Amino acid sequence: MHSGDSSFLDVAVIGAGFGGICTAKRLLDEGIDNFLVFDRSLRVGGTWEANTYPGAQCDIPAALYSFSFAPKPDWSRLYPLQPELFDYLQKVSDDFGVTPHLRLDHEVLDLTWIDEDQMWSLRTSEGEWAARVVVGAIGPFSEPANPHFEGIEDFRGEVQRSANWDHDRDWSGKRIGVIGTGASGVQIIPQAQAAGKSLTVFQRTPTWIMPHPDRPIPGWMQNLFERVPATQRALRTSIDLALESMVPGLVWRPSLLKGMEAVARMHLRRQVRDPELREALTPQYMFGCKRPTFSNKYYPAMAASNTEVVTEGIKRIVPEGVETRDGRVHELDVLVLATGFKVAGHPFYDRVHDSNGVSLTEQWSPSPYCYMGTAANGFPNLFQILGPNAAVYTSMVVVIEAQVEYIISALEKMREHGLSSLEVREDVIDAYTEELDGKLAGSVWNSGGCASYYLDANGRNVAWFPGFFRQFRARTKSIELADYLSRDTSAQPLRDPSTPAESGTKESSYS
Ligand code: NAP
Repeated sequence: MHSGDSSFLDVAVIGAGFGGICTAKRLLDEGIDNFLVFDRSLRVGGTWEANTYPGAQCDIPAALYSFSFAPKPDWSRLYPLQPELFDYLQKVSDDFGVTPHLRLDHEVLDLTWIDEDQMWSLRTSEGEWAARVVVGAIGPFSEPANPHFEGIEDFRGEVQRSANWDHDRDWSGKRIGVIGTGASGVQIIPQAQAAGKSLTVFQRTPTWIMPHPDRPIPGWMQNLFERVPATQRALRTSIDLALESMVPGLVWRPSLLKGMEAVARMHLRRQVRDPELREALTPQYMFGCKRPTFSNKYYPAMAASNTEVVTEGIKRIVPEGVETRDGRVHELDVLVLATGFKVAGHPFYDRVHDSNGVSLTEQWSPSPYCYMGTAANGFPNLFQILGPNAAVYTSMVVVIEAQVEYIISALEKMREHGLSSLEVREDVIDAYTEELDGKLAGSVWNSGGCASYYLDANGRNVAWFPGFFRQFRARTKSIELADYLSRDTSAQPLRDPSTPAESGTKESSYS
């Protein structure tokens, strides 16, 4: 452990993306400044620091995909590209005083709850700390899935991974192969088609693609947003309501999504003339079951004369390229893997242990679950951002803000009542999980006829909250102490543990 006072933290935040930066800003608002934000990367940004592949773009408009407390009137486009989002997060971190609290290049290797001390012990790549409370803002898309392809180590060309793009490599004029046609693949493929001599796309499952409404934001509009901020707030609200209007179809009545499916079919018909290719690109599952995305460039790239769309399964990788199940070898110079992320089985959860040494992964066997996407029983004072079932059909930034308010309310209550720990009650989390599972059963994600990362190996939907964002926000507005077991000490809850407690701890419930 680090010597001196600096090794004990009131709060340790893990992750310096949208979640970690928002938490840090709100802690400072509340006068809590004994905290650090740890991140394994060298820079802030989280997903927008890691995903720098050509064409990386957010598919939620910036007016809603930004913090409510940090509007930016001069977004250059309706849907921002990765560099602009990355710059935004760096600026927010500087402007709101978060930067001095960052500990970058600090990978958290182990987190263990020490019950007798009522604190977390953190081991990082750069030293050890103790913290009363831990906020895990690790991001659901921070660990690439990296499925194993037999023979990949013998491939003579270059392998590029969407989540860890090597910009020193040049792919122009080369024979490029892309595995993966999810949101990342859909953005990479037009770039690869334009730059490469040839493009081979290995498609396992097609994605529903909508026309992209993206456009540059003209100067006069940026000026208007600057001078009359209410106009940008009005845009934010209208995007929020448009996304909310999708929820009834996604959650309760998937037949309501037929209109969206018709728009996507028309988009495909307009952009792809070849009936055979069109057939190959038509999803055989309901719109919304897998994540739909936007693009005006994807279908033209798939239909281009230098592109081949291969739907035969991949048998193995050979030194010259990819061999498919029909025995064909597709020769390549570059192989791009846009094969997704470990969402349910994120390896970080192996590093989090309760006071008996049980990991969060073990606790969550067979399926992960979380109260309000935030708290897990058995793990006191651990609050997660975008944990299991925290995805709501809106901008993840507004979900993060709602979860951070919930966490801040927990810290306030700990301070107010002199509590050293809070742990969600098992019966509360069981009832919540049962409620979610029941509501999700009829959702398009569960019943739309596809396999997706939303469902874990046991078929549990571990991604979505089944309802409107407004419902999620109302439920996370403030922590209910009755939902939690608490430890009550006479000492202040957010304090240096070297200060002796005047009396022992006692467990209580506020029910
Ligand atoms: P993804 O949606 O999980 O897509 C992974 C792709 O790889 C799928 O097409 C999948 O096929 C394919 N694949 C995986 N393993 C394979 C294998 N062994 N053989 C052949 N194909 C394989 O991952 P992603 O595209 O990186 O997107 C993940 C999430 O990140 C998105 O859902 C979104 O939430 C976020 N994202 C957002 C944006 C944006 O805002 N525009 C951009 C990128 C990512 P199957 O479908 O058959 O499994």
